[in-house]
Amino acid sequence: MKNIFTVDVEDWYHILEVESTPDVQNWQNMETRVEQNFNALLDMFDENGVKVTCFILAWVAERFPHIIKEAHARGHEVASHGYSHQLVYTQSAESFYNDIKKAKDILEDLTGEPVDSYRCPGFSITEETPWGFEKIVEAGYKYDSSVFPANRGHGGLSDSEIAPHIIETPAGNLFEYPITIADLFGKRVCFFGGGYLRLFPYSLIRSMSKKVNRSGRPVIYYIHPREIDPHHPRLEMSKIRTFKSYVNLETTMTKLERIIHDFEVVPLKHWHKEYFEKVVTV
Ligand SMILES: [Zn+2]
Repeated sequence: MKNIFTVDVEDWYHILEVESTPDVQNWQNMETRVEQNFNALLDMFDENGVKVTCFILAWVAERFPHIIKEAHARGHEVASHGYSHQLVYTQSAESFYNDIKKAKDILEDLTGEPVDSYRCPGFSITEETPWGFEKIVEAGYKYDSSVFPANRGHGGLSDSEIAPHIIETPAGNLFEYPITIADLFGKRVCFFGGGYLRLFPYSLIRSMSKKVNRSGRPVIYYIHPREIDPHHPRLEMSKIRTFKSYVNLETTMTKLERIIHDFEVVPLKHWHKEYFEKVVTV
């Protein structure tokens, strides 16, 4: 079974639920690292001959249009991470729709192709936002990877189906690709992105990836460009968040290369066309 590799393309100061995260009005004044880090990832993907899905924050795309065009030219799927990186459950249905529609338009103007896949900021579609999936369909997306099917600090839909599945909404169907979790002593744990990907040894990530594949599911790996950059500036936050946000940045690139070496990965859209019918649960 092939797996899915995704990058959430945003900068080091886009960490959510931290008081020191700057407001969108101040982003233009911040030191930027996204271009160099994203380029390093694109080069690593080329060296290993793989294509991935890039969920791009459209604010970043407006500022660095050339890197989005470059990702597209190199054969990666250009997907949407919205425009202003606001948690979904802090927005109205209307402002959420406007944000993700604006992002889609910006990204499609840059690539000249439809942008079909979306991932919300911070996995913040929750039970408080029952309109979330409907708005994603209304904005014109077909595939979504916004569900975190486990408990987490913020966001998450802990009772969600864990395999790719169809969500029926009043606006039409949406193909949902939840973030991959595996069972660890009866608990749903994500070994495949964020702090746990950086914290756990590669041997554990590999064995958990194999376990997920044996159960008939793809692994959806996710990474941010800042996570391969040990020298990026730090946001002020609690000790526990500091640990989660910045642990093992220096070893992450090597870990990603090992994943890509040991597991065949493709963009979400490609995976869908090849496999979805075989694993769908309605
Ligand atoms: Zn994000």
